[in-house]
Amino acid sequence: MMEPYTVLIVDDVRTNLLVIGQCLKGLYNVREAISGAQCLKLARTEPQPDLILLDVVMPDLDGYQVCKALKADPMTAEIPVIFVTGKDSDDDEQHGLQLGAVDYITKPIRPAIVRARVSAHIQLKQQRDKLQHMALHDQLTGLYNRHFLVESARQRLARVVRHRTPLTVVLIDIDHFKKINDAHGHLTGDKVLTKVAKLLESNTRREDVVARLGGEEFVILLECPLDVAAQKMEQLRQQVERLEPEGLHVTASFGLVEASPYNADFSHLLVMADDGVYKAKAQGRNHVICCRAETSAIKPKTSPQE
Ligand code: GH3
Ligand code: MG
Ligand code: MG
Repeated sequence: MMEPYTVLIVDDVRTNLLVIGQCLKGLYNVREAISGAQCLKLARTEPQPDLILLDVVMPDLDGYQVCKALKADPMTAEIPVIFVTGKDSDDDEQHGLQLGAVDYITKPIRPAIVRARVSAHIQLKQQRDKLQHMALHDQLTGLYNRHFLVESARQRLARVVRHRTPLTVVLIDIDHFKKINDAHGHLTGDKVLTKVAKLLESNTRREDVVARLGGEEFVILLECPLDVAAQKMEQLRQQVERLEPEGLHVTASFGLVEASPYNADFSHLLVMADDGVYKAKAQGRNHVICCRAETSAIKPKTSPQE
């Protein structure tokens, strides 16, 4: 079953929290905040709310100020906010919506109205989440797609330039993949791709980005220097070789390049990593080849002897 959606109710009057909570009980994971400050805190804590029902009139921070603060923080800006208040003039409603709220519910609380509005906005959130997931993932393998890769490479390369953090770009290309399709059919080819993708993902750390660049090509962004990355990728090369997806002997060629403040253009790094792959193919495939900025390509100590 899918995780229930989380709704955060914010009101300085406990009875109101209770009444609204009753309307939503059993339908959502309901959390409560008794002040604006507590709302801002809970909005940032896991499980982050998918929707916030926000009282307007509260001591200290009022609902409008809370909404403004939520919208100003990238961590909470996307959470839809519905104002719940006794104020019901058009001006108030306009003000709330201008601050970025998606809807407005007036007191006294009518349970059917609360449930209907909440359900409508949760459904919209669900659709947005789904579209966002589709926009950033590859449908076949479930890995990140090229779009996500390029964006996250941009962010990580900015860190390389600013803070000199290590980053190695790895390009992986399955060997003779066309033959697999030709001999066993496209469907088997798809299964092989998926299984190799899962292997790459489960053998890298969570902070490493693993993406499908397209076809039978994958990219991994490793937050470590070239020599460490080369050892890890040699392990991974051996694991691919041992995987035998769909009972087939499958291998891959790896090209590695380390980014630096002077070599931080992602397209250029990909070209260099591709050069590594090209050399690996030329050496009989199933190799890990490191490219360096100064020398063109050096076979790492860890790669198998021929
Ligand atoms: P090399 O060892 O030189 O990399 O040879 P190769 O056959 O792996 O490379 P080539 O680029 O000639 O062929 C890649 C093949 O991958 C061709 C294409 O039909 C297939 N392919 C690309 N995307 C998919 C996909 O999503 N599913 C399947 N089944 N095949 C795909
Ligand atoms: Mg290819
Ligand atoms: Mg290939």
